[in-house]
Amino acid sequence: MSASISPAAESRLTTYEDVCAAAQRIEGVAHRTPVLTSRTADARTGGRLFFKAENLQRSGAFKFRGAYNAIARLSPEAKRRGVVAFSSGNHAQAIAYAGQLQGVPTVIIMPRDAAAIKLAATKGYGGEVVLYDRYTEDRDAIGRRLSEERGLTLIPPYDHEDVIAGQGTAAKELIEEVGPLDILLACTGGGGLLAGSALSARALSPACRIYGVEPEAGNDAQQSLRSGSIVKIPVPSTIADGAQTAYVGAKTFPVMRALVDDILTVSDAQLVETMRFFIERMKIVVEPTGCLAAAAALHGVAPCEGKRVGIIISGGNVDPLALAKFLAG
Ligand SMILES: *Cc1c(COP(=O)(O)O)cnc(C)c1O
Repeated sequence: MSASISPAAESRLTTYEDVCAAAQRIEGVAHRTPVLTSRTADARTGGRLFFKAENLQRSGAFKFRGAYNAIARLSPEAKRRGVVAFSSGNHAQAIAYAGQLQGVPTVIIMPRDAAAIKLAATKGYGGEVVLYDRYTEDRDAIGRRLSEERGLTLIPPYDHEDVIAGQGTAAKELIEEVGPLDILLACTGGGGLLAGSALSARALSPACRIYGVEPEAGNDAQQSLRSGSIVKIPVPSTIADGAQTAYVGAKTFPVMRALVDDILTVSDAQLVETMRFFIERMKIVVEPTGCLAAAAALHGVAPCEGKRVGIIISGGNVDPLALAKFLAG
């Protein structure tokens, strides 16, 4: 008889119970963000749209939820040594801020071309920033080296049980507040938000159709879900900088496969039009990546006619000058 342990047995998949435990850990720390509605959006789509405004979350994106949960779960010794994270921005800010709130030192590995506002915010939250070139250097290797040299715990932006569980709390709050949904749309990069959201939606609104939305230029999640195995693509060129992932995670993908109906895509032009819609009609600033799910609804990529539709607005961290250029362009 074989005594070997399969990799699947060693790494446990995140469950809805984990999302509930995360919700308790972040309670009173993360904002319970508002759910916004818009008559204009409803008229335009023929549906009833509920926007979960994570652009108003602490640190400006849902990433605070997963980051805070993952840090809270560390041993006292690991907390004392500190954590290291790599990210195109919002995870970095979230880890720096969540670390500061819990008295845990943080080192953040960020791409040299990350938005200036994200670099500044990360440093402002007390994170030590290490820069790398996202087109030529391997951030995973840099992260591993730093974690070995300094005894830091690496917390990845999506491929981590506690991160996925934390991200799932936004959809949990949304459905608890507005009731069952026909459709849930979540912005998708590496799939942490989507996997977590899917756990909550399947538990609280079992008949809900669950879709991830990613940039047209980088449809790796769509290819992966449709083919049944993780497809890797070159780093996509898109204004959705939080979804420039080349492949979904080994821990997010099995959850997506089990619970997500499909992945939809939207163009950069549709993201810009959605940013404009949010500013003009709903008076909120949403970053390009944060517009993915809403763009699918507003542009008919996800048919919403007669449906109750949950939309996670994932983040609002966009440099004002960059925003002005998008809107002028
Ligand atoms: C990170 C991020 C995403 C993508 O989240 P994943 O968990 O990697 O799929 C979407 N929107 C914003 C604003 C983000 O910061």
